[in-house]
Amino acid sequence: MRFRAVALMLGVLALVLVFAGSAQAALTPGSSGLGDPFFPLAGNGGYDVSHYSLDLSYEPSTNDLVGTATITATATQGLSRFDLDLRGFSISRLKVDGRDATFAREGQELVVTPRTGIHSGTEFTVVVGYAGTPTVVTDPDSSIEGWVPTDDGAFVVGEPQGSPGWYPVNDNPRDKATYDFSVSVPAGLTVMANGVLVSHVTSRGRTAWVWHEADPMAPYLATATLGRFDLTISTAGGVPSYVAVDPQLSSGNVLRKLPEIVDFYSSIYGPYPFDAAGAIVDSARVVGYSLETQTKPVFDRVPDETTLAHEQSHMWFGDSVTLTQWPDIWLHEGFATWSEWIWSEHEGNRSAHQFFEHYYNTPPQDVRFWTPPPANPGTPLFLFNGTIYVRGAMTLQALREKVGDSTFFQIMRSWAALNRYGNVTTAQFIALSEQLSGMDLENFFDVWLYEPDKPVSW
Ligand SMILES: [Zn+2]
Repeated sequence: MRFRAVALMLGVLALVLVFAGSAQAALTPGSSGLGDPFFPLAGNGGYDVSHYSLDLSYEPSTNDLVGTATITATATQGLSRFDLDLRGFSISRLKVDGRDATFAREGQELVVTPRTGIHSGTEFTVVVGYAGTPTVVTDPDSSIEGWVPTDDGAFVVGEPQGSPGWYPVNDNPRDKATYDFSVSVPAGLTVMANGVLVSHVTSRGRTAWVWHEADPMAPYLATATLGRFDLTISTAGGVPSYVAVDPQLSSGNVLRKLPEIVDFYSSIYGPYPFDAAGAIVDSARVVGYSLETQTKPVFDRVPDETTLAHEQSHMWFGDSVTLTQWPDIWLHEGFATWSEWIWSEHEGNRSAHQFFEHYYNTPPQDVRFWTPPPANPGTPLFLFNGTIYVRGAMTLQALREKVGDSTFFQIMRSWAALNRYGNVTTAQFIALSEQLSGMDLENFFDVWLYEPDKPVSW
């Protein structure tokens, strides 16, 4: 008996060792990317971020950024190490759960090896202290993004890959998180980040601007645009609205339209999705575009009404309902362009049908107008090509005329409601359209979204 008891104990010990061994074996490196067809290294595998707390200090005269990022995440696999995305900067400290971690830099990958592995399902905290000159990223289509210095501060935009130019991040639209920002700048400057303004406190010649974004946000939609601004706080869509205008610019009356635009889109797409609204109007023509940074789109000049409406509609389509992979960008830009048309129609100007007719008159020989098809840009070079916008919008207008207004607006509202704060694919939009219309729309969407030629029958 005694012998057998010892044998049993040895058996238990062996089992314990086997379990310990398999748990150890289950700790593997998180992947360095998420396999996006256009930006395969953007984002990282093995964890899901729930919150970023960014504590930054910026000196415009020297373009020096000093930051501490505190990132709360949960492991989705057993992790022996994991990556963040960060471009440039020197790292002064890196801690995982309060303990120093080792790290290595490989291009945009910041490879972090914690002292002990992280088991699947465990929440962990990463603190990265960093400093240096923030990065301006040049995209495949030659546009610039990231932290772009201006004459009085910086214009901060991240679509599709600029965010690692100013903070360590899991830079993939699939990993949404909430954000806190505290940004210190010389007194007299204003920092415009996402969400609601918590406080701005000046002491010893510097002001710390604190913003809180309580709703899930894709990393590329974060901003901390700063400079001299006249900031007006009012309400739009039932939430605080923050409108900042560079005093060098004369913004005229266009920004007064903002609450009306928010109300109109709320009436056709469903409730405004975020707890803050607004606009940031900077003088930054070197950038050459505006961006739908969450809660407050940022403009490189005074927008016209069409551009203002376009960016506001992105709060529903792009920011709340976000693509899963970048080649589906028409789900943002086609929708925002159609939103321009329906705003125009609502205002009693040119109707969405008239826009459609105008563009449909383009002859089939005009290959540059008709290709690439909206849901298959083929290369990141065409991410923001005209067809993604215009032929994407034509697709929605053609759908509206095929299924009728009542069903069409039901599709748009359902799309916004069902996927609020989520990530989507074109296949899901097609499935929802078929479900709500009761029609077989395979040929319709094939002709409009995937075939390179001008659609002739659908
Ligand atoms: Zn857009």
